[in-house]
Amino acid sequence: PHVEDMDLAEFLPKVGAMVQNKAQVNGIDVTCDVSPDVPNVLADPGQLQQVMINLLNNAIHAVVDRHGSKGGRIEVAARGDDRGRAVITVADNGCGINQESLSKIFMPFFTTKAPGQGTGLGLSVCHSIIDSLGGELTVDSAKGEGTTFTVRIPGRDA
Ligand code: ADP
Ligand code: MG
Repeated sequence: PHVEDMDLAEFLPKVGAMVQNKAQVNGIDVTCDVSPDVPNVLADPGQLQQVMINLLNNAIHAVVDRHGSKGGRIEVAARGDDRGRAVITVADNGCGINQESLSKIFMPFFTTKAPGQGTGLGLSVCHSIIDSLGGELTVDSAKGEGTTFTVRIPGRDA
């Protein structure tokens, strides 16, 4: 990996812009709110981009599944925590994940998508990347209400 000192206040809006078109044609409102207290992180921008794009594409799929092309909302936010970590959340108001699937979503090849629609590798790759940074990737979801993925990454100076 090509590790760089990354400013998330610069990086996250750029990643958001990459999915803006796809979001717009599906009538999804994507917001990005980065708190000034978020620390820089040492990470490979290509890898972190892969994580964020995976999470955002999953969120788009989930909100279209629930709302069709009107009423979808995806909120990206970032802040610092009391352990000097950067905390990035991707929250959607999509279909949510049932209890049984929730225990399996990070496993390679687990997918609920139609054949040809998903490989089931996205979240397992995201998990490995965040693990390799000494971070954590967690999920909270309520079936029929929405899902929030949380990425925690050690801050540069932590
Ligand atoms: P894929 O997208 O190819 O199915 P992933 O590893 O990215 O593989 O995701 C695995 C499964 O986790 C998805 O098929 C879906 O069931 C569930 N999932 C992931 N993100 C979300 C989300 N934001 N909302 C609802 N379900 C999700
Ligand atoms: Mg995926």
